[in-house]
Amino acid sequence: MPCWGSKSKSYDTKEKGKKVDAGRKNKGNLVNKEAGVLNNDVTTVTSKGNYDYDLVVIGGGSGGLAAAKEATALGAKVAVLDFVTPTPLGTKWGLGGTCVNVGCIPKKLMHQAALLGEAIHDSKSYGWQVGDNVSHSWDALRDAVQAHIKSVNWVTRVELRDKAVEYINGLGTFVDPHTVQAQTKQGERLLKAKYFLIAVGGRPRYPDIPGAIQHGITSDDIFSLNRAPGKTCIVGAGYIGLECAGFLKGLGYDATVLVRSVPLRGFDQQMASIIVAEMEDKGVKFAHKTIPKSVEKLETGKLKVTWTDDQNQEFSDEFDTILFAIGRRPLTKELNLENAGVKVAEDGEKIDADNEQTNVPHIYAVGDVLYKKPELTPVAIHAGRLLSRRLFGNGTVNMDYENVATTVFTPLEYGAVGLSEEKAIERFGEDNLEIYHAYYKPTEFFIPQKNITHCYLKVVALREGDQKVLGMHFIGPQAGEVIQGFAAAIKCNLTVNALLSTVGIHPTIAEEFTRISVTKRSGKDPNPASCCS
Ligand code: FAD
Ligand code: NAP
Repeated sequence: MPCWGSKSKSYDTKEKGKKVDAGRKNKGNLVNKEAGVLNNDVTTVTSKGNYDYDLVVIGGGSGGLAAAKEATALGAKVAVLDFVTPTPLGTKWGLGGTCVNVGCIPKKLMHQAALLGEAIHDSKSYGWQVGDNVSHSWDALRDAVQAHIKSVNWVTRVELRDKAVEYINGLGTFVDPHTVQAQTKQGERLLKAKYFLIAVGGRPRYPDIPGAIQHGITSDDIFSLNRAPGKTCIVGAGYIGLECAGFLKGLGYDATVLVRSVPLRGFDQQMASIIVAEMEDKGVKFAHKTIPKSVEKLETGKLKVTWTDDQNQEFSDEFDTILFAIGRRPLTKELNLENAGVKVAEDGEKIDADNEQTNVPHIYAVGDVLYKKPELTPVAIHAGRLLSRRLFGNGTVNMDYENVATTVFTPLEYGAVGLSEEKAIERFGEDNLEIYHAYYKPTEFFIPQKNITHCYLKVVALREGDQKVLGMHFIGPQAGEVIQGFAAAIKCNLTVNALLSTVGIHPTIAEEFTRISVTKRSGKDPNPASCCS
């Protein structure tokens, strides 16, 4: 059986008129009534046949490019619009979207740079003769990271050309339900298509406080910053805030995180507090329950950041850099969605789209722009591919947004899949759950005597029967690599019984999941007796 439920048959243009909408929900009547201008019965629309393209994708990032490439592979005629508006600091970048240019990739490379710094330190105890004056060059790291990004931009362009996807470096806005205007350097172009895909992603928000935009930077600037960041104030304790604080400290810069409510809200809070404790041990400072009030540039060139806590007490300090990591705004306002009749969700910004189909049946959306869906690259890619298979390849499989694994790339990484302990309790009740947990000692930590206090894992399972696993959480080195395989197992309905009957690979850290024996309920000590017990 084909894995994706799609046949590798090309999109038959003769069949266009018969094609059903890929969300398989006829919302046409709703649109006709509400937008007033649409005749969105797909059959009627396609029978006119006056389109330049089968699919126009607005946004050449993770989701848009994946959908476009899949669609052309299935025989569709596709154009992708991609345009990057410079940041207030003037930073801009090439084709490929957030992940490649200002997200996952440069972040992982800087995280790796920080881990290497730790490894250089540890290597002495393994016999390497490393001098005491090891230093790090921000400029060299930034240049290496940017060179890699440029090569990916180039490969992406070549790939689009090879796959016959037309790339238009232009800003897309809807003119009417079947027309998008591309604003390019050369001028305006109107593109008519049978289907549209909104894959515009998002950009970092700035808080509404004096000095934020003038003096602050975001993740859009940090990876190409033309000077070493120095002492940095990071506002926000989500993924980006903690990851940036982690690698900046690892590279030798003083880092202070302003936490508004709790770190990593939405994640398992016990795991989040362990991550924070580990970062504190590594020297990152946290100001809990605080919000920034103002940023002022001093004559010395330093930035005076003032913040308040939940008691309204005021604090301030001087920094070289202030980095806002307070979440991202989907780029929907710029699209003139009203011209197409596409509605936004109740948050006023994101698009609520069952099976990626908006309220206008021939307009779809994937990626970060979707309401209440994980903002992760593989999610955007997977949803984009499946959508194209449904539109052009007789695919029938919808995106499953449940149990998506993720990793926070903090100095000691945190990988998770499935439910947090809190969410599981909320859904199933504490009495119906068994929570297994364990501290463990990575073998490679022994010789350099690295801190093992925070190497911890947790399995959240149902108590009855074979104990179906609902969530797995892992703090330690290479957490993403550890969790990825278990995410596949959870998709196959992993049970605690199955975990325990799995023979581990020794000596690894992932094998710790096959050795879990202590439940929280038992009150027994979750610390390990020895490395091989
Ligand atoms: P994007 O990749 O953002 O692409 C959208 C593209 O559309 C952009 O190029 C944009 O400029 C363009 N565009 C916008 N409006 C228009 C318009 N009107 N016309 C033309 N073009 C337009 N995810 C992970 O899975 N793992 C990670 O480790 C990870 N780390 C991250 C680190 C950081 C610092 C950040 C910011 C994000 C990270 N993410 C990570 C999230 C990941 O980058 C996003 O989930 C992913 O890029 C979303 O893909 P997308 O296709 O929705 O949008
Ligand atoms: P986020 O995870 O939503 O975190 C935003 C943080 O900023 C929260 O701590 C929030 O606090 C705080 N905040 C919001 N408004 C604030 C304000 N006005 N003042 C002070 N603090 C404020 O957003 P993000 O870190 O920017 O990341 C965006 C998305 O990118 C994530 O959801 C994630 O999906 C994706 N991403 C993924 C990875 C990865 O896979 N490793 C890495 C980076 C990013 P509250 O909790 O109080 O709201």
